[in-house]
Amino acid sequence: MGKTATGKRELRQRQRQLLAELAAVGRLISETRLLAIAAGEVDPASLTDEELVAFLQAANCLYRGGEELIGDDAYDTIFLSELRRRQPEHPYLHQVEPESFPEMKTVELPERMLSTDKAYDFAAVMRWAKRIEKAAAEAGRDFSTLRFRATPKLDGYAAYDDGQTLYTRGDGRRGTDISRAFARGLQVASGGERGLGPGEIVVSRKYFHRHLAPFFDNSRNFQASLIREKELDKPAAEAMRLGKAVFFPFSLLPAWEGNWSELADGFAGIVAELRESLDYDIDGVVLEISDPVLRAHLGATRHHHRWQLAYKQNTATAEVEVLRVVPQTSRTGRVSPVAEVAPTRLSGAVIRRVTAHHYRMVRERGIGPGTLILLSRSGEVIPKIEAVIRPAVAELPGHCPSCGATLVFEADHLHCVNTMSCPAQISHAMAHFFKTLGNADGFGPAAIAKIHAGGILSVLAIYGLRQEDFIALGFGPKQSENMVAQLLRSRTEELPVWRFLAAFGIFRMGPGNCERLLAVYPLERLLTIDRDDIVAVPGFNEKSAEAIVSGLAAVAPLLRQMLALGFNLVADSPEGEAAAESAPQPAGVAGKLLVFTGTMRHGSREEMKLQAKALGARVGEAVSGKTDLLVCGEKVGAAKRKKAEELGVPILSEEEYLALIS
Ligand SMILES: [Zn+2]
Repeated sequence: MGKTATGKRELRQRQRQLLAELAAVGRLISETRLLAIAAGEVDPASLTDEELVAFLQAANCLYRGGEELIGDDAYDTIFLSELRRRQPEHPYLHQVEPESFPEMKTVELPERMLSTDKAYDFAAVMRWAKRIEKAAAEAGRDFSTLRFRATPKLDGYAAYDDGQTLYTRGDGRRGTDISRAFARGLQVASGGERGLGPGEIVVSRKYFHRHLAPFFDNSRNFQASLIREKELDKPAAEAMRLGKAVFFPFSLLPAWEGNWSELADGFAGIVAELRESLDYDIDGVVLEISDPVLRAHLGATRHHHRWQLAYKQNTATAEVEVLRVVPQTSRTGRVSPVAEVAPTRLSGAVIRRVTAHHYRMVRERGIGPGTLILLSRSGEVIPKIEAVIRPAVAELPGHCPSCGATLVFEADHLHCVNTMSCPAQISHAMAHFFKTLGNADGFGPAAIAKIHAGGILSVLAIYGLRQEDFIALGFGPKQSENMVAQLLRSRTEELPVWRFLAAFGIFRMGPGNCERLLAVYPLERLLTIDRDDIVAVPGFNEKSAEAIVSGLAAVAPLLRQMLALGFNLVADSPEGEAAAESAPQPAGVAGKLLVFTGTMRHGSREEMKLQAKALGARVGEAVSGKTDLLVCGEKVGAAKRKKAEELGVPILSEEEYLALIS
């Protein structure tokens, strides 16, 4: 779901494409209606049967296409269960959910691929085991010695590999040929061979967060991109080349095996262990029995095998009433809504408050005292509002809870624009500074609040405080002495320069971006950088570059004053891998404007340009006074070389250039 400049909600182009194939959606449900239902503005119980099914189809089609409209859990627990409640025998519930790649033709799968029945609590697992026990008795098998197998449930993209072709699961009978993923460099997990049947395309969680998150909204989005016809994005190709995105056949999954009593007794531990066994998105475990005779006896519905069950862990949900919505002003002035709810136990924790994300959501979904919400908590993650079941009058603040300034809506958020003297913004910014620096103990939120209350309004002023000043602010003599010592320590101890910069809390300048920019430009240079210099560094677009330039300009005076205090900055990166600003070699072309000409011998010219950009260089087409280097391959036209000579632009051969960047 996207938003236009005028704030009108609408589907993205790609979502429209995916839905175009589902003709039923156009006929039975409009785009506006679809979005309203997805936003939780319509009570699911008020939908007609046709609308409900059309919505389920649309949501499912978008999910399969990597363009999720509603969460997996909301789909199951709200809409699918509504249909189940109304019409337990509805055909939609008994077919494998279709996935959709409108641009591709379907082909028959070598083997049926069914869905897996799901359980959300141990009681449902027990009921499944009871059915197995009954079937075992019928088939003359001894239930007590029956072998159960548990494997991690990968949350990736289902596919089937017959050794020749890789198929999507499709509707379970017909899928689409996505063999191109292997042609593009997809590997089988654990060095496995081709032809191992069903599995999932998955991506390393760590790798996704570190390298792909800037380019893809979520891992499902990324997985879908690997198999689309359209040309592969460079980060996606790189992930496959490094074996970080793989096809994982189920037969290669780590597994637990044992009998039912062992499984039941150690259930939580077995689930926890399997969940941690792989660095991929895992949303539960798959349980099954191995006995082929009993498998055959149990058989399958049209939807799933009866001998198999997916246990989805910790996707506990609860319906709970909102007591009130409390505004909180952050250091950037954004005012965020926190919904306080009646204390509710959810997967082992008592939930009292949950974020309502932003005030547009509060306003549009009607969140206020008396709103009934569906709360969920999956994995170790913080609770979230899965859906608004029954809206009420939205509770919106008119004034900043900290300074009383009138709040303004900007995009989705309410903002306190009183950036200069809003206590919440100033004290949060000061606390953020010390927290990010991480080398001065005793400057936590409580101490900062005390200092702020005493009229100290900037980190620069804090560094000017002496022991007697701290005492005057209400700290004890010993503590005051320590605080002065800690301030000295924070200036004299070695401090990675990215930490120092990130501490200023500039919009879009978190540790990762600070590291990336500092790898290319020294700190002093960054303070006078322009938009194009930032865009030249991989991972930055024009919009964030503009925000960064204005953010840097705003803090530059304070930053220079702080630098004058003499911090012991070192060019360390968070992962110790970024090029050091003091080491000129790797950054030999960083920030420079290069022009490539002629035929290159070590790869195509386009590849060399991309490589140069990856090193932080800018690449131009024509030689001008701004050109820093002209790199010449073979068969170079005389004009460019002559122009470079006239302008005094250094000319490098391909070999000299490669030596420069190696
Ligand atoms: Zn304020």
